[in-house]
Parts: sequence; structure tokens; C-alpha cells
Amino acid sequence: MRGHPRQQSIGVDMVFPMTNTVEIPDALLPEDGRFGSGPSKIRRAQIESLESEWKTLLGTSHRQQPVRQVVASIRTGLAELFSLPEGYEVALGNGGASAFWSIACASLIEHKAAFGVYGSFSRKFAQEAAGAPFIDETVVFESDPGTYRIPDFREDVDAYCWAHNETSTGVAAPIMRVAGSAAQGALTIIDGTSAAGALGIDITQADVYYFSPQKAFGADGGLWFALLSPAAIERAARIEAEAKRPGSKRWIPSFLSLSTALSNSRKEQTLNTPSVSNLALMSQQIAWMNDNGGMQWTQARCSESAAKLYSWAERSSFASPFVKDEQARSNSVVTIDIDDRHSADQIIAALRENGIVDTAGYRKLGRNQLRVGVFPSVEPSDVEKLTQCIDYVVDRL
Ligand SMILES: *Cc1c(COP(=O)(O)O)cnc(C)c1O
Repeated sequence: MRGHPRQQSIGVDMVFPMTNTVEIPDALLPEDGRFGSGPSKIRRAQIESLESEWKTLLGTSHRQQPVRQVVASIRTGLAELFSLPEGYEVALGNGGASAFWSIACASLIEHKAAFGVYGSFSRKFAQEAAGAPFIDETVVFESDPGTYRIPDFREDVDAYCWAHNETSTGVAAPIMRVAGSAAQGALTIIDGTSAAGALGIDITQADVYYFSPQKAFGADGGLWFALLSPAAIERAARIEAEAKRPGSKRWIPSFLSLSTALSNSRKEQTLNTPSVSNLALMSQQIAWMNDNGGMQWTQARCSESAAKLYSWAERSSFASPFVKDEQARSNSVVTIDIDDRHSADQIIAALRENGIVDTAGYRKLGRNQLRVGVFPSVEPSDVEKLTQCIDYVVDRL
């Protein structure tokens, strides 16, 4: 932050060395320095909407009409944003996308699932399923970070799972049903967490599209949302009925029951108490997206921002896009490799001292890399300025 001491203490005995400090001129700085890939920038108008509603909404019962109206506006707003076909429904609950992995294992995968694994998030879902005692050994189709891998057709699975956007690597994967999967009655379960609201999707190609609000929707973490096809709804109801039979090995805790979540959602509620302020932030953001032209508008905006970074990196003498296949480059999370003459950590630290935050690569990927969230809330003009700030810092470090 501006005006902060240039020498920041981070913990007891760690101090940023003075030699790293670069002061970026005000004229170069973006208006808003939040470029995180989740949590991501929350727009001021969202916060202001909380201000105007604080007394009638915040601190009031989620079982009463004012909060239920907010939930209703989220559900109808998402249906509009994604042009949901007849029969698809919107469910929500507490716990974020990570909780939804457990819900999918308990309530959606019947015997066996195939996973595309190409980064930390797609791997976590596969691992969750591998740990569920009532699911057969999972089938994993893996590819290197920076690429994607859609699962192949398999006779013996009842679900195909992959991520629309692998947030740890900045890779966007196509969403199209695996050939033969519909005929075998298998579900297509897509992690849309850092894609939903930013990258286009034909939702008829998925049975379940789930996401958290703290990425493209620029709200807070802690909730999950899922768009469900009639086949997914039917699957969850059937598995749950079977789990209740004597002798069943499957345990579906009520927190992980998709049918329970859906019946609450239909009443514009959640199973247990949600963060009301987060619902309000989410509702505000969906309305903002729909009012400005819906998914076509958000998609175009994110693609404009991403293109600024990719083309800058391609021109740069020290930076290059991490994802080589242009078709696989994400328009919501952009990963940029830095050559080994420069330290990404130093660049990231110098940016942070100037109020430009959360540009670090995914820790476990372990690359000399910047990662920038260019979700709809981020102004494309600020992304342009970010590239200038990076150049400025690198020239002076
Ligand atoms: C952030 C993220 C998650 C985890 O979301 P939480 O809300 O933290 O549970 C899962 N999948 C993807 C693709 C993500 O980007």
C-alpha cells in the first residue's frame, strides 16, 4: 500500500530487503491493485449495496422473506446468465467447491468415475473420490501442467469429471460431453470454479456445473453453487434412496446430500446458516453481469484483459505465456513465466509494496511465474497498467 513503510516486517525476523524497493509512479498504477485468482477483487458497488441494505438484510433470519428473496434473485439470475434449459435447476449450500467434491462423491458418483487431471484442483477432486470407500477405484487421465486432459470413454464408469479452468496453471479446457457418455447414462460433472461467469459454456454439455463465488463472481468464499441437469437430479435422488436401504455401504451425511441441498434451494434457503452478506454480494454481481449484457459481455471483457497480458508477454524480453497452446490459454486466470535472469518472487513483492497484490503463481506448481486473475470485476485498463508496472519494476530491480 502507498504510504506504508517501504521496509515491511513480515513476522518476527523476516524483513523485505531495502534493495528490492521500487516506487512505481502514481500515473502508472492501476486504479485497483487487486489481481488475485481467488479471493478476487470485490467491486465497490457490491460493498455499497450492502451499505444500503444493511438494516433490512444483514443480521436477519435466512428463513425469512428478505434473505430468501436474495437467494431467489441469485437462482433466477444464474438461470438467466447461463441460459439454463428447461428442467435444469440451481442449488447452493455452504462449504465452497471443496465441499462440493465431497457432495459429488456421496450423492452423484454411483460406482466409478473417470477424471481429467492436469493441475492441483482437478487432482483434488480425483483424490477425494479415490478416498471414498463406497466408490470403486477411480480412473485418472492425466496430463502435464500447462495442458489439459479430457477423460476418454470408458464402459465401466458412471461419471466423467474435469475442470473448465485449472486455476493452478491457467489452463481452460473445452466442455463437451465425452462421446458415448450420454448413451451409457453417465453424468458429466464440471468444476466451473474459476470459469463460471468468465468463460462461455454450453450448459447442455454438462449435468453438473459447480463453482464458488470468490473467483469470477467477485464475492466471498464459503458457498457453493451448482447448475444441475434433470439427469443429475434424478441420480442424486436414486443414490440417496438406495443408501437408505438396509445393508447399503453408502453413508450420505445430510451436509453432503445433494437432494437435501436442492430441496432447501427450491425454498430459497440453505440447509444451514449461510453468510448473508456473501449472498448479497453474489446477487449484486450476477445482476451487474446480466444488466451489462450477460455472459457475452463478461466473456468479451475477460478475453480483452487476458489478451493484453498474453500479447504483452509475447512481446516481452523476460516474460512468456506459460500455456503454449493458445487454445488452452485461460481468459480468466493468466499465467506468465519469468525467465531466470529475474525472480518472480521479487517482482511480486515489489508490486505488493505498491499496492498491486496477489500476482503470485500457484505455490505447488513451483515455477518462476506470475498469475493474474482477470475476472469480470477487473478493469481491462487496469490490466494494461499492470503490464506497465511489471516492466517498470523489472527495469529497476
Ligand atoms: C478455488 C478453486 C476450488 C476450491 O474452491 P473453494 O471455494 O476454496 O473450496 C476448486 N476448484 C477450482 C477450479 C478452483 O479454482
